[in-house]
Amino acid sequence: MSLPSEIRDFGRKFHKEYRVIRQAIEKYDRIVVYRHIKPDFDAMGTQMGLYTFLKDNFPGKDVHYVGDNHVAFTPRLFPETERLTDEWLNQGPYLAIVVDVGDRERIADPRFEKAETIVKFDHHPFKGEDVARHSVLLLEAAAASEIVADFCLSWKEKWMSQEAAEYFYIGIVGDSGRFMYSSTSTHTFAVAMELLKEGIDLPKLYRRMYVKEIDDLRSTAYVLSHFTVSEHGVAYYTLDAKTQEELKITPERGKENVNVFSNITGIGIWCSITEDPNPKDYCWRISIRSKVADISPVAFKWGGGGHANASGAKIKDLGELPAFVKDLDDILKEHPEYR
Ligand code: AMP
Repeated sequence: MSLPSEIRDFGRKFHKEYRVIRQAIEKYDRIVVYRHIKPDFDAMGTQMGLYTFLKDNFPGKDVHYVGDNHVAFTPRLFPETERLTDEWLNQGPYLAIVVDVGDRERIADPRFEKAETIVKFDHHPFKGEDVARHSVLLLEAAAASEIVADFCLSWKEKWMSQEAAEYFYIGIVGDSGRFMYSSTSTHTFAVAMELLKEGIDLPKLYRRMYVKEIDDLRSTAYVLSHFTVSEHGVAYYTLDAKTQEELKITPERGKENVNVFSNITGIGIWCSITEDPNPKDYCWRISIRSKVADISPVAFKWGGGGHANASGAKIKDLGELPAFVKDLDDILKEHPEYR
């Protein structure tokens, strides 16, 4: 079966990296797939898609996936995460495949460092040194799933099961905002088309991805009646721990309303700011989104990172909030057309 030209061209571009990563997969009998902490659709979809593809095509290999579970997606969309013992890790050499994350400290399970070889597929800029010996990194890709599905689809003599295709499709839909964000390209659609050929039931899948509870409506109502808009068009809301308790939501759930501010005239950047009372890493977690402005430098400055139009950051306490909002407001002050 011939693949669309977008996939053939992509494969040519990463020809060398694909070849060495395929050789590494063939070589190792023990493989672990890693992704980022606080996972989203793309992190989990890419991880589970690749895991399933490897299990399907290399049934004799010992393949695993690790990381923290997602409060809402597990088990609705993805199985429980595996717990790998130190004993397994110390049993011999293995290959770590890191997906959808570049920064060392964001890889969900620091024990990836024990792997004999580390390879990576990602679309995030990263700080410092690359964790991997071989990387396929494409910042413009709509999703890590788009890259890894391409890698799998174009691997001759290997096959993509419906289950693997569905996981990758979840990742692409999640990170491209249902094919809406500017990162969506003809390649994104070409990969999605090949995945759909495996027989995905779209209405059923979208229901599983976007189902909401009545309590979710209450938190949306709260956000809509408690947001602030800065002078030049930054909309934001805060959810302290007490409010989250009253609304029966976690910090992860708290950020899910951030996109109610997308597509509003006069708002160019929007953020959720949720208190994470976890004593190990007490902070206020910020999700930042924008229409046009590149918000990633501000995210980096405030202890985070991410993409031009979707990034994450942190502040230690609300005293830092005005300075953080000002950094974003200054972008819109300079570029009123971004509103
Ligand atoms: P979120 O707002 O958590 O959904 O994150 C939006 C995007 O920014 C995702 O691609 C995340 O992987 C990335 N991101 C979030 N927080 C951080 C961080 N602290 N460091 C680097 N990237 C981040």
